[in-house]
Amino acid sequence: MKTLSSIASVRTWCSTQRGKIVFVPTMGALHAGHLALIRHARSLAGSTGRVAVSIFVNPTQFAPGEDFKKYPRDAKRDASLCREAGVDLLFTPEAAKMYPADASTRIEENLVSQPLCGAQRPGHFSGVCTIVAKLFLILRPDIAVFGEKDWQQLVVLRRMVRDLNFPIRLVGHPIVREADGLALSSRNRYLSSTERAAAPEIFATLKAAKKRVSDGEKNIPALRRFVISRLKKIPNVKLDYAEIVDAESLQPLNKASRAILAVAVKLGKTRLIDNIKLPLRA
Ligand code: AMP
Repeated sequence: MKTLSSIASVRTWCSTQRGKIVFVPTMGALHAGHLALIRHARSLAGSTGRVAVSIFVNPTQFAPGEDFKKYPRDAKRDASLCREAGVDLLFTPEAAKMYPADASTRIEENLVSQPLCGAQRPGHFSGVCTIVAKLFLILRPDIAVFGEKDWQQLVVLRRMVRDLNFPIRLVGHPIVREADGLALSSRNRYLSSTERAAAPEIFATLKAAKKRVSDGEKNIPALRRFVISRLKKIPNVKLDYAEIVDAESLQPLNKASRAILAVAVKLGKTRLIDNIKLPLRA
């Protein structure tokens, strides 16, 4: 595995590879969710392609007061996990090189980034689009793999790729969960033992909502009320949102919609997101 931190050296490495480049951008503190994406990237790359992973805690996607400073960083462990997973290139850029002090350009998507997390975290998706666009332009991958845990992120990035004509195929990967249902996240390590014990209730609520739909519930406001009231019973929880929307537009359901239930809660000080597809139409 090649580990590079300079932009120029990554450009050179990528432009001299013959096969496809399959890219997995991350913020590090790698867990089994990231590793599943990397394995999927490995299978998409095949024997001739190359798997590239970036680890960069991107300052521009954190709002003031969020957890940028305390975000978990574990460079050595991450590098050995990448090596074991068969990664060919590990890109670990420096913040000062990615963002010169006078950098004054950002990429903004202005529709699907507005609801859900976008409404709660001003500037977040603009930070995500900016860093992902920069990484795409540096590595010029053929394929990039993103997790469906960050469903809205995937929807926003699909827009960006379409609108800006990036010649890159985005591939989503299903959510990887702990045995008790909690979606894996680098932020799970912030949870106290009591919070960790309560956290599986988030996915249990999503599954219960899906079961209600399978059992015939069609009343979307009633379903949403059920989700909200159950989530609010989790000790020490603050609900950020619980919305049932069209999975592609993130707007209210229409007759042709595939539906998704997306939630964000603060458990103590830790913000957790999760989602589930619902067999439901308007
Ligand atoms: P992050 O390091 O949190 O920015 O995540 C890097 C990539 O891993 C993103 O595409 C995430 O959606 C994805 N990811 C994070 N957690 C999970 C998970 N539990 N299951 C699937 N993908 C995930």
